[in-house]
Amino acid sequence: TNNAKQLADIDHGKIRIQRSENLKSLVPIKDLIFGRTFADHMLEIEWNANQGWLDPIIKPYGKISLEPSAMVFHYSFECFEGLKAYKDKDGNIRLFRPDMNMKRFKKSATRLTLPDFNGDELLKCLKKLIRLDERWIPAERGYSLYIRPAIIGTQESLGVGATTRALLFIICSPVGPYYKTGFDAVRLLATTDKVRAWPGGTGDAKIGGNYAPCVQTQIEAAKRGYHQNLWLFGAEDEITEVGTMNCFVLLKNEQGETELVTPPLNGTILAGVTRDSILSLARSWNEFKVSERKITMLEVVKAQEEGRLLEMFGAGTACIVSPIKEIHYHGRDFSIPLDPNDPSSNAGPATKRFADVLVGIQYGEIPHEWSVVV
Ligand code: PMP
Repeated sequence: TNNAKQLADIDHGKIRIQRSENLKSLVPIKDLIFGRTFADHMLEIEWNANQGWLDPIIKPYGKISLEPSAMVFHYSFECFEGLKAYKDKDGNIRLFRPDMNMKRFKKSATRLTLPDFNGDELLKCLKKLIRLDERWIPAERGYSLYIRPAIIGTQESLGVGATTRALLFIICSPVGPYYKTGFDAVRLLATTDKVRAWPGGTGDAKIGGNYAPCVQTQIEAAKRGYHQNLWLFGAEDEITEVGTMNCFVLLKNEQGETELVTPPLNGTILAGVTRDSILSLARSWNEFKVSERKITMLEVVKAQEEGRLLEMFGAGTACIVSPIKEIHYHGRDFSIPLDPNDPSSNAGPATKRFADVLVGIQYGEIPHEWSVVV
């Protein structure tokens, strides 16, 4: 006889829905603070090592009850995702490349020996949840419903090992635009005494354990009057990420070519969906060289001093692009150009173009396979 157990995978067909009996009142959109307001429902899927994934359940948003010995509280068995649902002008709900988030979620879970799952099935569950909570997706352009899937290890055990129980949940939060009026270019403090990620580490996984240790650095940057910090790595001060965003540099390189550079996915960089989208758009435009390669502070400083630095920006789901106007590095402030033709502009022309095209696709104004109607 075959004793190997067949573990169940996520099955969206088995969702049970327990509707909330007292729906909350919507928060006026101008009062929204990122990640503070939650929709009426949540999705939960339990997993255990004997049965696999149990039936998904959609239920009223509410507390999770765990024993203090649950592994998530001690050893950071937690990974998560972040994506948005948008309402287009015809009232359709749209997601932006959600398959990429599912792929990354699986990768993060696997890195922590949390259970793997069928990403297509989870995406179907997610769609069911946001259809049910559709009234929480603000219809105004720039607004969206931020979706936060997470998996936690819930086994009651202080032993360090793979969890035999886990909980996957998805919660949703209506959010406003990152920039209320135009762009707001940021000033960065280059961090030279701490690193976010290192070769062989977990910087390429979206796990809670990567984030708490970065907050102290963020607060120090803020105290010194900077919006964000710039994460560097190694003896050559390679640029890695900006706060919790990927980083892009547009410059005229030493060969005189216009080149868009972002650090390569070498294990220390989170593979951002926005990053991938920007690379792909830039390659399709075929107007300048596009490189995923190492770029050091020395190269950026030299380009800046020789007038070859064109634009720099951070990229991520929250802000799409965040123009950079200054970097403090080793006691000096380096100003980064914005728009040479428009001194009043807070973003360079390429930065603006990426933002416009991505927003246009996200809200279904520019037809594109990346935008998925739910
Ligand atoms: N880097 C880090 C460390 C992040 O947390 C994020 C946000 N997920 C990003 C980059 C940008 O990724 P994405 O474009 O998928 O939001």
